[in-house]
Order: sequence, then structure tokens, then C-alpha cells
Amino acid sequence: MSGLSRRDLLRLTGGAAALGLSGLVQPVWADTAPCHERPNHCGEWEALAAYIDTEVLPIPDGNPPPFVPGSPETFATLRQPYPPVPVWNPPGPKRVGIQAGHWRYYDSPEELKNNRFNPGTSGGGKAEWEVNLDISQRVVDRLSELGYVVDLLDGTPPIRYRAHLFLSIHADGDVTQQLRGYKVGSARFSATPEADKALCDALWEEYGAVTGLQKQPNQVSNRMTGYYAFNSRRYQHAIAPGVPHAIIETAFLTNPIDREFLFRQPDRVAKGIVDGLRRFLDSIPPSPRISLASGATFGATYTP
Ligand SMILES: [Zn+2]
Repeated sequence: MSGLSRRDLLRLTGGAAALGLSGLVQPVWADTAPCHERPNHCGEWEALAAYIDTEVLPIPDGNPPPFVPGSPETFATLRQPYPPVPVWNPPGPKRVGIQAGHWRYYDSPEELKNNRFNPGTSGGGKAEWEVNLDISQRVVDRLSELGYVVDLLDGTPPIRYRAHLFLSIHADGDVTQQLRGYKVGSARFSATPEADKALCDALWEEYGAVTGLQKQPNQVSNRMTGYYAFNSRRYQHAIAPGVPHAIIETAFLTNPIDREFLFRQPDRVAKGIVDGLRRFLDSIPPSPRISLASGATFGATYTP
């Protein structure tokens, strides 16, 4: 056992205040002293992870009950927030998870078997996963050059994946072929909604500024805010609660004008994403000190 009590966890998550600047929710951490100033109180992040994965929101068994569209029981779980946990922010280099949406969809594990038949939308002779992978690789290259530790992930995240942020990259589809623009969303049931909002706000602004594409905030779908890779209550292969996350629909692959942009200017698409991610990553303070002993001070999460 980790030695972290529920009382400790509440203290971990309860200490922060927030400021509103530039119309954005600004992440504020209760304790921003760097870890190296109190080495005895660092290095407990793995213990915290173990506590979350066993006590707070245990890793599911890999056999989720059928997800029946229209079933109130199933969908109610998507509205139920996770217990609060600290934002994942261990010391050391910042780690970033970039998911190329639908990539290797056919290799999905049993619990995600519906994904095995979902290569995403298509347009201009390409499957969505191909477009997502191309953009994701460009994002990964830029972030790596900037010194971040980057994981390029396929459609199946590692079990309880943890990083300083997770972004799933997609392109949109629409049968009328008329819809255009981009969307950003995060889990409606998140344990860290303020951190997610800060990440989403940064993406909304920077991606729009770099690409000039139309912002479509009213079209953020339930499939985005209920995205399987965010759903660590139901799936083993999902990000851990506490990981700031977002999903971006970069543009409509089914619209000729949007598609042309995706195909001809993938570096601009990637730059828009990278600028948003950097803005969020730069806003994360030094890793807060953390201790599992009662009575110690703790790092904090984002609060509104
Ligand atoms: Zn998709």
C-alpha cells in the first residue's frame, strides 16, 4: 500500500486558488517550490499513482459490460465525475502523449473491440487514420526538437497512461460535406476539469490563430467529451485520472476546402497544435513537492 490516506488525498487536491487572466482559467498551484529544495518529499509520484489505481479509481478488469446506445445506466456513468486527484506533474522533463486517432485500429484489444472496425472518416482518397498519423508525426518531431519527452500513441493507449498532457488528434467527417472548421474537447467526467480547460483554451486560440480555420465550439460532440481514451473508469487502456487531456478535430476531411488545407499545409496544422500545447506546458509550474506522510504539505490541482 502507498501509505496515502484519503485525508492526504483530499489535502492534495484541495489547496489551490485560481486567477482569471486574459479570459482564460489560469492554472495555479498551491505549492510551487521545486522538488530539489525538499528532496525527502519528492519521488512519491509513483506511490500516488499506485494509490489512485488501487483505491481511488481502481483499474477495471478489461471486460466492460456492453455499451448500449440509449441505455441510461451506461450514459449516466459518463456524466459522473471522477473523484478529484492531483494534476499529474512529476519532476523531470515534461512528457507528452500524442495519439494518432484510429491508427492501428484493427489491433484494438478485446475491451475496445468496437474500434477494430473504425478507421475513422475518409476523404480525398485517404482514411482518417493516415491523415491523423501524418499530423501526429509532425507534432511529435517538433515537440521532440523542443526537448519534450514525447510518446506517439496509436488508437490504444497504454493501460493507465500518464504524462503531463495527452492529446488525441483526429479529422472530422460529415455526410453533407458542407461542415468546416475545428473543435477541441475534453472529458465531461474529468477529475481535473480546470487543467483540461486551460489546455483546451490554449488549443482553441493557438490552433485557430495559426491555421485560420473556423472555430466550431457549438459542435463539440458527446463522442469527443465521452472519448474512450479518457474513460479510465470503464477501460484499462485509457489515460489515468489526473492527466490533463484534450481531443482535437483538426478540420473536416469530408469538406473539399478543409481537406485541401489538411493535405497541403500539414506543417501549419502541426504548428497550430504545437503552439497550443507549448502554451499549456509553459504554464505548468515547477513540479510541486509531494509527500505521502500526514502533516506534510502537498502539491495542488487547478481549481476555478
Ligand atoms: Zn476520428
